Amino acid sequence: MLSFNPDEVRIPNNHFIGGIAVEGGEAIDVMRPSDAVLYASVPNASHDLVDQAVENAWRAFKESGWANRSPRDRAKAMKRWANLIEQDVTTLAQLESVGSTRPISATVNWDIPFCAEGIRFYAEYADKCGGDVIPTQDDHLGMTITEPFGVVGAIAPWNFPLVMASWKVAPAIAAGNAVVLKPSEMTPFSVVRLAELAVEAGIPPGIFNVIQGDGLVGDTLARHPLISKVTFTGSTRTGALVMTACAQSGTKPVTLELGGKSPQLVFNDIKDIDKVARRISGAITTNSGQVCVAGSRLLVQAGVAEQLIERISSVFEEQVAQSTWENNATLSPIISLKEADRIDTVVRKTVEEGASLFTGGCMVGGTDSSAFYKPTILTNVNMEMDAVRNEIFGPVLCVETFETDEEALQLASHPSYGLSAGVHTADLNRAMRMVKSLDAGTVWVNRYGRSWDFAIPTGGFKSSGIGKDLGRQAYEANRRTKSVLIDFSE
Ligand code: NDP
Repeated sequence: MLSFNPDEVRIPNNHFIGGIAVEGGEAIDVMRPSDAVLYASVPNASHDLVDQAVENAWRAFKESGWANRSPRDRAKAMKRWANLIEQDVTTLAQLESVGSTRPISATVNWDIPFCAEGIRFYAEYADKCGGDVIPTQDDHLGMTITEPFGVVGAIAPWNFPLVMASWKVAPAIAAGNAVVLKPSEMTPFSVVRLAELAVEAGIPPGIFNVIQGDGLVGDTLARHPLISKVTFTGSTRTGALVMTACAQSGTKPVTLELGGKSPQLVFNDIKDIDKVARRISGAITTNSGQVCVAGSRLLVQAGVAEQLIERISSVFEEQVAQSTWENNATLSPIISLKEADRIDTVVRKTVEEGASLFTGGCMVGGTDSSAFYKPTILTNVNMEMDAVRNEIFGPVLCVETFETDEEALQLASHPSYGLSAGVHTADLNRAMRMVKSLDAGTVWVNRYGRSWDFAIPTGGFKSSGIGKDLGRQAYEANRRTKSVLIDFSE
């Protein structure tokens, strides 16, 4: 039984700088999404405190020996960190579930183990990625060597607070950098515990710092002269602001994991309609659609459309809307009442524009707050409509039908996003043609969503982002390349 009392969870409501808890800053109230109770507050860091955190990280980078430690030793410390995270699963999972949209069964079985295993994955990269020896004149040696940047600024969103943070922090630290992380002010606490455990594991104090605050703190961090690289996950709009800040403060390299409006293409030849219905449903109801790669546009071939939509709608009914600290909860609350209201407004507007509401389209009744939104299906839609064109970040599936492969590809194409896509078909040749033609950073065939293979990178095309999280790419993006040419002719 995983249920717990949310009022009994100890909240580490502080910054974490140089290996210790640091107070300071005007309090920002933090709300529990499940019941809209203001349960804690977080200090909003001043400009000076951001300065202090970054300078501290810079000193740790220069003086702690982390960057120069043998890669094998860095890997050992990181693996100890991963072990401690697993041992601390109850504390971390409760901390994550109490204040975020993640149900306790998900944090215990997925978020925390996924975070630990991702750290192990990057620990193993520490001694496996080096430079190259470059062919050149016989009496010269040409080579590239790689080195950490220094201090990486990481700005994380609220939808998977620990997992998203670990995707940024783990490759940066494994690569020898120090990190200053700013979590979302809506979900600020679990990453503080993550940072405490890093120090317990033997990662030097000051290598992993957490600074709390609002968007202005994120901007100050991105612009700080001692920050050498920035990694960000969040909305496309804020991503552009972060990129501007990086361009204006030293043309810093930046990794951006942004929004999406991902299509799921289903063809008449699917073998098991129930299985596909569950997959499609999972792709839009996981975390109540508050996922950058949510499969929010279903494009279905006419022959199976009616049956599939019926099946998806009945799978939606299985979702259990309970507070995230209840054992049986499966449907996540929307992060805030304001966001739930925004989702509802988009759905209503799209219906006014001519869409048909097949199911959902309202809050779930009978819960402690109105922040649970019913999984929703909209049909008779097109790309001109708000719900089809713009990221909703809620459990809203827009359905369009097609007859031919060409039509499917035409519908799949989005004017600005290109994050991910799903293809469901029994025809391998067709699947490969789709993979080649879809304008998306990730294409899943006969599945939807990430696996435990951390080696597969993730990141979008077009307005969905720049660079990759996960995979070798994320490690390499945290080291810079130095070219060396040695003349030994004399
Ligand atoms: P934002 O993109 O605004 O925020 C993400 C992070 O960036 C937060 O830590 C935020 O801090 C910080 N931030 C905000 N403004 C700035 C700035 N000018 N410079 C640097 N950092 C900044 O997302 P929201 O959390 O407001 O969510 C809004 C929408 O974004 C969602 O509805 C969804 O569409 C999309 N989103 C996409 C995500 C993804 O995975 N791609 C994840 C989360 C949201 P603070 O919390 O204080 O604003």
